[in-house]
Amino acid sequence: MCSVVNKGLKLEILPNEDMTTVLEQNIGNARFLWNNILRRYNDLYKLFRFHGYPLSPYIRNLNAILKMLKQENRFLYEGESTSQQQVFRDLNKAFTKFFKEGTCYPRFKSKKNPKQSFRIQKNGNNIRITNRRIRLAKLGYAHYRTSSQYKKLLKNSKINNVTVKKENGKYYAIVNIKTTVKELEKTGKNIGIDLGLKNLATLSNGQEITNLDLKKEDKIIKKYQQKLSRQKYNSKNYQKTLKKYHKWLNQKNNKINNAYHQLSHHLVKNYDIIAMETLNIQGMFKNKRWAPKLQKISLHKLQEMIKYKSQWYGKKFIQIPRFYPSSQLCNICGYQKHNLTLDIRKWTCPTCGTTHHRDINAAKNILQKAIKNIYHKKKINIKK
Ligand SMILES: [Zn+2]
Repeated sequence: MCSVVNKGLKLEILPNEDMTTVLEQNIGNARFLWNNILRRYNDLYKLFRFHGYPLSPYIRNLNAILKMLKQENRFLYEGESTSQQQVFRDLNKAFTKFFKEGTCYPRFKSKKNPKQSFRIQKNGNNIRITNRRIRLAKLGYAHYRTSSQYKKLLKNSKINNVTVKKENGKYYAIVNIKTTVKELEKTGKNIGIDLGLKNLATLSNGQEITNLDLKKEDKIIKKYQQKLSRQKYNSKNYQKTLKKYHKWLNQKNNKINNAYHQLSHHLVKNYDIIAMETLNIQGMFKNKRWAPKLQKISLHKLQEMIKYKSQWYGKKFIQIPRFYPSSQLCNICGYQKHNLTLDIRKWTCPTCGTTHHRDINAAKNILQKAIKNIYHKKKINIKK
């Protein structure tokens, strides 16, 4: 069985001086548009509310603001038009998420953010990629570097869009393509995952996956950060330090990405049902013991990887509600230990006498709950 999926392929692009200028302009335009549409919308929203009228960020309202901004700022006509449309589509999405899913209110984009980007929608011939060069209408062309595997995919796939991204001083094109992937064979085995503080994850089969050791990277990054704050902004020496700083940030990111790719691939390859708790990042940050560790690891990234890979390869990824007391329940008899504090790593069930390793027990409960949920859903479907 094959499934049709959207895949993002990362290309490092090597723009010449002219194209760098154009890319910077477009990145600036996208940020300018985002911030200005957001500011004007906020003003309108306040004005309406002051007079007692509700105002929703309908795409029409945002579009009207975009038109207004273009008339006032002629330079916007020189940029890529599909990328401008994309800015306001993204903003609309951010608002929808805020109103419907309760995520954070859309924030202003800062020039100082080390990640900057804009997206170009495929429209006729505006995006062309050959074996060595990528050509983006209005922006020019550039040589690029990527794996031979990606090159092959690029040749044979339909392109949806391209996101141009500047990350830690380098330029990338993330090419979103439509492709097919072959489902992985079923193994008949299932797994529960307990994400933790001491370990990155503990699996229901007893396997413990330790946190990445990023001490060396963090130490060097901090050193360059301090050096930058002492140097004169944009001086020659500052630029030199900035290059090294970016290099180490990239190195750290790559290390995390590689480890997460490996782990998520291992899981979808070996198991049919993968169960995990819903992440409660905001709640975790409120916990003083979790907060410093969480800044170093991005559990959300790992969760997303497992999620999309399960979809691609025909496996099931199930998340159970976060208020489920997975650590407190005995996975053998169901007894609930209410006074289980964070420092208790091992406990013995007073009812059935089983001694539990805290996290393995939690992972087992997470898996059991997920399987129960699937069974329950099936039963409802049969009744219908
Ligand atoms: Zn028990």
